Amino acid sequence: MLRRKVLVTGGAGFLGSHLCERLLQDGCDVICVDNFFTGRKENIAHLMGNPYFEMLRHDVTFPLYLEVEEIYNLACPASPVHYQFDPVQTTKTSVHGAINMLGLARRTKAKIFQASTSEVYGDPEIHPQTEDYRGNVNPIGPRACYDEGKRCAETLFFDYYRQHRLNIRVARIFNTYGPRMHPNDGRVVSNFIVQALKGEPITIYGDGSQTRSFCYVDDLIEAFLRLMAAPDEVTGPINLGNPAEFTIRELAEKVIAMTGGGSQLIFKPLPEDDPKQRQPNIAQARDRLGWAPSVPLDEGLERTIAYFRRLLDS
Ligand code: NAD
Ligand code: UDP
Ligand code: UDP
Repeated sequence: MLRRKVLVTGGAGFLGSHLCERLLQDGCDVICVDNFFTGRKENIAHLMGNPYFEMLRHDVTFPLYLEVEEIYNLACPASPVHYQFDPVQTTKTSVHGAINMLGLARRTKAKIFQASTSEVYGDPEIHPQTEDYRGNVNPIGPRACYDEGKRCAETLFFDYYRQHRLNIRVARIFNTYGPRMHPNDGRVVSNFIVQALKGEPITIYGDGSQTRSFCYVDDLIEAFLRLMAAPDEVTGPINLGNPAEFTIRELAEKVIAMTGGGSQLIFKPLPEDDPKQRQPNIAQARDRLGWAPSVPLDEGLERTIAYFRRLLDS
């Protein structure tokens, strides 16, 4: 059988490890590249014995020479705590990383997918967000290394598409959660679950009235594959996420109820530039990919809580 050779950057991270696993199931030959900044060997340990899986420790800000047919570019810390730890490196990862992966795609004529983000919309003034909305990002704030890095990566993708006729796919991913998030990832779903399971107070930033729309990881990975397999004119950018919107306070209350814990809510200051609301309009994903998420928040939380329970017990 002729196996598609696929490169996944950031493959040892939360989303990347699920993507590698799914690609192997689908009969691909997978090369996973990661510098282990936020990724973990544990996420891919179960794939290491597979003869069609290969792991390379490499930082995408440096050139990479490989022969591949498809590239999924996911390398980049995604949690505000981690992307603000070394903001210059975050911008370099998005921008130099995109240039190197686009250069690789250009030389090998590979199809290339970019994990962009709802953060390109910043603190949005229109709701829900459609792909034609140009966003409201503070270019000099603490989130800018991530938001502007990802915006510039989109620019590079579309310039390589226009200038060098690359076959590109740009996904704007909205908040996604599930098993294999790092227990210290810092994002809201893993924080709340870990706090609840340890019986610690749940930390709500601000008054908890800000909203997010949470997508379960398996739904998102299915959308990645559909986007990659779509006709070449489907370049994106295309919103991928679950439109069901919740306040952060509602999420905290759900997690407490589902873990059966007695955690208190404590309120901490809202970080600077924290978006007040976020909800994807997924009409394009529905029309062009025939995709819509199928796992409701309660079910996804059950699975994620079960994962963290096992992790904390081990
Ligand atoms: P993650 O932090 O778990 O994964 C990122 C991976 O990239 C990690 O394994 C990390 O070690 C690796 N990495 C970071 N810098 C690198 C570099 N310079 N060279 C090589 N590897 C590097 O986060 P995730 O949630 O899996 O996110 C994956 C991608 O999806 C990111 O690009 C992120 O911006 C994007 N995204 C995620 C979400 C989400 O809700 N999970 C939302 C929007 C966009
Ligand atoms: N590059 C890479 N792997 C390749 C081909 C290119 O990492 O297989 C990098 C290379 O370092 C270059 C970047 O991608 O800096 C952009 O490549 P491109 O061919 O677009 O431009 P140029 O080589 O002219 O800078
Ligand atoms: N948040 C919170 N408590 C936490 C972590 C996050 O209240 O322990 C809030 C955060 O301020 C934001 C929302 O939850 O309003 C989502 O944060 P996350 O870091 O998960 O993602 P992003 O802000 O990038 O959407």
